[in-house]
Amino acid sequence: MSKGYGGFAHPGVISMVEDKLYLSDVRDTEAFNLVAKRTIHEVAHQWWGHILTPKIVEGGSLFTEGFAKYTEAVVMEKIYGKRAVYQLSQTANRRYFSGRASASLAEPPLYLVDEEGYLAYGKNYTVMLALRDLIGEDKVNQVLKTLVTNHRDDAHLSVHSLEFLNAIYNISPQEHHKLIDDWFKKVITYDLSIEDSVYKALENGTFEVTVKLKAKRFESLYSGEIKQISINEPITIGLFLKHPNAITKADTILYLKPHQINKETMTFKIIVDKLPKYISIDPFGTRSDENFVDNLLNPE
Ligand SMILES: [Zn+2]
Repeated sequence: MSKGYGGFAHPGVISMVEDKLYLSDVRDTEAFNLVAKRTIHEVAHQWWGHILTPKIVEGGSLFTEGFAKYTEAVVMEKIYGKRAVYQLSQTANRRYFSGRASASLAEPPLYLVDEEGYLAYGKNYTVMLALRDLIGEDKVNQVLKTLVTNHRDDAHLSVHSLEFLNAIYNISPQEHHKLIDDWFKKVITYDLSIEDSVYKALENGTFEVTVKLKAKRFESLYSGEIKQISINEPITIGLFLKHPNAITKADTILYLKPHQINKETMTFKIIVDKLPKYISIDPFGTRSDENFVDNLLNPE
């Protein structure tokens, strides 16, 4: 189901509201294709919700909306390039922070998500993208396949979020388990930013770009208190010739790699062939960060 969009996936059949699908004008190929997004989402529910139907307990929407939102990102990226992921991530991040701000009940950790739309359609997506960056798309696919294989003929609904987490632990290195636990079992937010950059032209025609960044991590406790906690995890840094919201499959990306972030202020030297126009930490939104604007610096 896709609340607010008026789309609904029945087993084998998808209903869509006319003005959200058939009457949408998608001739502008530069614009985000909402028809593609909505179609991918509802088709994804043929697996995530129908073939794999979770047990009716907390954590169920991870398997339905979480996986459907994740599928949107993976498929949209293959069709339209990174710009689609950027836009989906922005929407998910906004949904999370606005929902969290107006929620009347304490925010549960993701593995216990219940009726909270801001988690189902917001943070679920962001954490799945973080997981993809951490263990790789192939391993995420393997986990999804294992769950479908084990449960497609279930007579009684039985799959729940702890089984999903165990399937992730089984195929990921021990060193990542604590971080994966942080994402699914705690309420963690980030404040990432690029503070400054300078460059030096090197003799061989390349450029050494010095990037200074800030990275803070916070835990929201059940009491409502938010406390800063330590950080030690790989986060992607990107150097681009175009804004990440415009990067298509045809564009060259100067630099896009994870760096181990373990201090609040860090400096990295990165060598690239051309001078970047944009420098970003977590450019494609894999962390819940309320102020996403300062993740990107335009050095000019
Ligand atoms: Zn849905």
